[in-house]
Amino acid sequence: MSDATAKKEERRKFQAIRGTRDLLPPETALWSHVEQTAHEVFATFGYGEIRLPIFEQTELFARAVGGDTDIVSKEMFSFADPFNPDDMVKTMVQQALQLGLGVELKHFEQAVQQSAEDKIQFLSLRPEATASVCRAYIEHNMQQLPQPVKLYYMGPMFRRERPQKGRYRQFYQIGAEILGGTDAPGIDSEVIEMLMTFFDKVGLQGATLYINSIGHNGPDCRRAYIGALYNALLKNKDQLGPDSQRRIDTNPLRVLDSKLESEQAIIATLPHIADHLCDGCKTHYAEVKRQLEVRGILYQENWRLVRGLDYYMRTTFEITAPGLGSQNAVCGGGRYDGLVELLGGPPTKGIGFAIGEDRLILSLQESGKGQVQQGRDIYIAWMGEKAYATAIRAAKDLRKAGFSVELPPVEQKFGKALGQADKLGAKYALILGDNEVSEAVWTLKTLSTGEQAKFPEPDLLEFLRKQKNVS
Ligand code: AMP
Repeated sequence: MSDATAKKEERRKFQAIRGTRDLLPPETALWSHVEQTAHEVFATFGYGEIRLPIFEQTELFARAVGGDTDIVSKEMFSFADPFNPDDMVKTMVQQALQLGLGVELKHFEQAVQQSAEDKIQFLSLRPEATASVCRAYIEHNMQQLPQPVKLYYMGPMFRRERPQKGRYRQFYQIGAEILGGTDAPGIDSEVIEMLMTFFDKVGLQGATLYINSIGHNGPDCRRAYIGALYNALLKNKDQLGPDSQRRIDTNPLRVLDSKLESEQAIIATLPHIADHLCDGCKTHYAEVKRQLEVRGILYQENWRLVRGLDYYMRTTFEITAPGLGSQNAVCGGGRYDGLVELLGGPPTKGIGFAIGEDRLILSLQESGKGQVQQGRDIYIAWMGEKAYATAIRAAKDLRKAGFSVELPPVEQKFGKALGQADKLGAKYALILGDNEVSEAVWTLKTLSTGEQAKFPEPDLLEFLRKQKNVS
């Protein structure tokens, strides 16, 4: 390598990968506030926190999220992991790896099969967490606990999506799942009540709750609807775009997701699932709506809110928030009674939701609710060795009392120190010089007004405490 090239290498600047980002202070204080509120609200509804691995076997997601979905077929970050680390990755593995990065499902399955023979496992960064929660429920025999088991989680998820406002490759979700026990409408309406309580407490304005029932996967219910939908779509095939045309055969429900302007008039004429629900699902839906009303929760019905996978059933919901442009869904959720069984567990009722934390934060910021307390309470401006020792003690006591304190590590002239205190947005400067130390009377300057007052040490703490309670 030439010297010039080496120098260039040295100066190379690293950047966060596209679709990922650093969250920095002061914004991170808002993230913490949102998460803390979730901990508090969910605890009042009797939920316990579950912490899950960031990566799992690819097959878990392939099964739970669905091999035909964009998430699994195109968007997962997957990698091959040899069981035996000494067994270095062979050509075959590299081929399998490439295939595993989401081409056609049949190739992927071949690769997985081959990998089992080669003693290699395929792992993926989690694109969502419901699958992991269900896996953990089965793995830890949680069906033996009092049912239902109510769990919540928060953390990063990974999807190789095209980044844009409100859409990232590493994004954060806060979610909850209720597993086991009954599918009584009281469960569905209470989980929605918890969500709306959380959004309210966190200060989200203008959130709209949309609900629907997608029935169950039976011939007298959703399957009858899909048949009717299929026929109606076939009749109008020529007026649909290529994606929707393809979906008529692969997954007709997904046509209802279309945002294409040219397709909206046709979609408006399609049959509604509400007219095809079996009696059991119809009664369940009516009761969920009644109980939302009892709980004082406003909702709008949206017949186009559907899910493409068989195990999803009955209650489906979504919450949108203002200020987010086209990516305006802050939360999606619904009932999935067949999922635990699909993953090898006993028949288990299940319902849950996932909040997009990035979007929630964006919406709070757009509505001016994103302000978090910045700056310090107190900046200690000290001069002299003796004053430094007092300043250290003062900082310790003030921090213990819950104040945020900036204690400069080197001596500065008072003028400079006060300037620094201003820059950091401190409310007060505590001035400690020789006089203050020898007289044991300290000077406190309120930086917004310039007012200055002297206090004996114990009175100062009392004064600051009172001020804090007022603000
Ligand atoms: P889903 O797991 O796809 O049902 O998504 C649940 C919620 O997560 C959505 O309503 C969004 O708020 C959020 N979300 C999903 N994908 C992304 C992404 N790529 N970037 C940011 N938020 C996302």
